[in-house]
Amino acid sequence: MIGDIPVGSEHPVVVQSMTNTDTADISATAGQIRSLADAGSELVRVTVNNEESAKAVPYITERLEQAGCTVPVIGDFHYNGHLLLTRFPECARSLAKYRINPGNVGTRHRDKNFITIIEQAIKYDKPVRIGVNWGSLDQTLLTGMMDENSKRNDPLDARTVMISAMVESAMRSARLAEETGLGHDRIILSAKVSGVRDLVEVYRKLAGISDYPLHLGLTEAGMGTKGIIASTAGLSVLLQEGIGDTIRVSLTPKPGGDRTEEVQVAQQILQSMELRRFNPQVTACPGCGRTTSTLFQKLADDIWAYIHSQMPQWRSRYPGVEGLKVAVMGCVVNGPGESKHADIGISLPGTGEAPKAPVYIDGIHTRTLQGETIAKDFQEILDTYIEKKFGRDRVGLGIRD
Ligand code: SF4
Repeated sequence: MIGDIPVGSEHPVVVQSMTNTDTADISATAGQIRSLADAGSELVRVTVNNEESAKAVPYITERLEQAGCTVPVIGDFHYNGHLLLTRFPECARSLAKYRINPGNVGTRHRDKNFITIIEQAIKYDKPVRIGVNWGSLDQTLLTGMMDENSKRNDPLDARTVMISAMVESAMRSARLAEETGLGHDRIILSAKVSGVRDLVEVYRKLAGISDYPLHLGLTEAGMGTKGIIASTAGLSVLLQEGIGDTIRVSLTPKPGGDRTEEVQVAQQILQSMELRRFNPQVTACPGCGRTTSTLFQKLADDIWAYIHSQMPQWRSRYPGVEGLKVAVMGCVVNGPGESKHADIGISLPGTGEAPKAPVYIDGIHTRTLQGETIAKDFQEILDTYIEKKFGRDRVGLGIRD
């Protein structure tokens, strides 16, 4: 449990994200946590990198509570976590989980500092993520494993040793945490790299040797389409194999960009893999030479925007609406077929076709639209369909109808 969010076992894969505000700025950080939570982030992590941040954390969680935002807040610690968590007990108490990077807990007193953090987790009954990162891998461990490897008759390549060192670092730290007294079910592991193939390999190894819940994510995935595609590629392979209990998509936003994009991408990955349902899906064909107008592109876009704008109300009013499938197709080649597979679908007229748009509901051709009001009429049909199919939410013991 992270706060009141279960992670691991058969529980749904959880979406998480991280703020990029200065944690010492209470107002900005609380505001961004709320935006991320509103966008669907079920856990939000903040960096706790200095005394000012540690002092700010309890005020941030208090503000969230006052605003009715219950998202668990996770503290990300590097280098000085042992000091901050002991010197600022209110910070330790108000966080829902601590993230420790075993490569960043000091060199001389590594185990002592690590144990201090674990003791705080035990004291305040908090779970811990042991988050290994290849950019800050425990160098003593890696050097030792490289030396050992060089003595083998058939030395492995450096990449293989590095992946083994990441797995070993995570497992060694988990053992030490349990020996210190932290419960087996209070530990989550991650081992982040920035290459997709490395990611798949390291997580397959971790999943093969342990039953700790796994936090998946590429580190430094990058900007724009590169970051989205690399994250999707890596996470999808693992999720398809049943590996991963919580995911974060580490996108670099453009200056002034929307931080919640990473939440939308994470949700879309899980929904595309049919592991979770967050929003109705609009299937649209790519269009081709058979569609000489942009009518169907505009309709697909308008329908998506309409659904997106309505979802905050629909979610509570129409339970199950997140599973709705809508198809908007450009012509009759694939239009009727795709429409039949959706809950509700429309196939617009392509070049040379009669100016009519057949509408399919639950696989049956029920209406044909035409004229200037196709978009408006289709939206009305959609509204009626949603009301009929999902508009029976339970209130108390009765059924609202
Ligand atoms: S459904 Fe029609 S318009 Fe859309 S891509 Fe296929 S052939 Fe082209």
